[in-house]
Amino acid sequence: MTDTHPAIRVSEIFGPTIQGEGVLIGLPTVFVRTGGCDYRCSWCDSLHAVDRQFRHEWEIMSSDAVWQNVVALSGGRPLMVSLSGGNPAIQPFGALIKGGHDEGYRFALETQGSVVREWFAELDVLVLSPKPPSSEMRTDWATIEACFQAAQDKPQVVLKLVVFDENDYAFAKEAAARFPRLPVYLQPGNHTPPHPGNEDAPVDVDGIMKRMEWLVDSVTRDRWFEARVLPQLHVMLWGNKRGV
Ligand code: SF4
Repeated sequence: MTDTHPAIRVSEIFGPTIQGEGVLIGLPTVFVRTGGCDYRCSWCDSLHAVDRQFRHEWEIMSSDAVWQNVVALSGGRPLMVSLSGGNPAIQPFGALIKGGHDEGYRFALETQGSVVREWFAELDVLVLSPKPPSSEMRTDWATIEACFQAAQDKPQVVLKLVVFDENDYAFAKEAAARFPRLPVYLQPGNHTPPHPGNEDAPVDVDGIMKRMEWLVDSVTRDRWFEARVLPQLHVMLWGNKRGV
């Protein structure tokens, strides 16, 4: 890494662990979780990286400092780096991605699609995750389309949709219809998300699995054979624990 200028607001950097959800599930990954989000979903499972009351835990770091952390955690061996949040699209990641690529690392970013960045085209994987009605957020499809266009067919782009109920399921279908070329990953929502500072609070795994079964039934009933249904593997393994 030579460009040390852009400052990135970081909530936590951790790993390697496995990616717990979506298209890269099971893949060893280092996570760079940024601080701050322009959304406030009703069921957000990363409030410690969203709510400004946790701002004191966030650190403004140079790209170079972030990169040194990633290299130290991975022992200098290239792997997948997941840029998450919060909304990582708010942060200036272009220089970090370029430098990391030069050293053989790969980069995935997940965002709700509310902020468009030219450097999306430099990613290896772009996960667009529009938030369904249960989040109580409003989706601007034009901005999500602009995110897709910014990627310029360079990274693999996928849709990931959290589903809690029938309304969310209908929303997922609408998203898939709007972006028919994109692979779709459906994920049953966690109705027992962590409260920051109380990550050991129990997770209702049985309830999540019931929702998963309902989702599988819905997809097969509707002959929606292009969709993939996956749980959050890290929640199954570690509950709401942070840093895993
Ligand atoms: S977009 Fe993601 S990080 Fe932001 S509030 Fe919603 S669930 Fe949380």
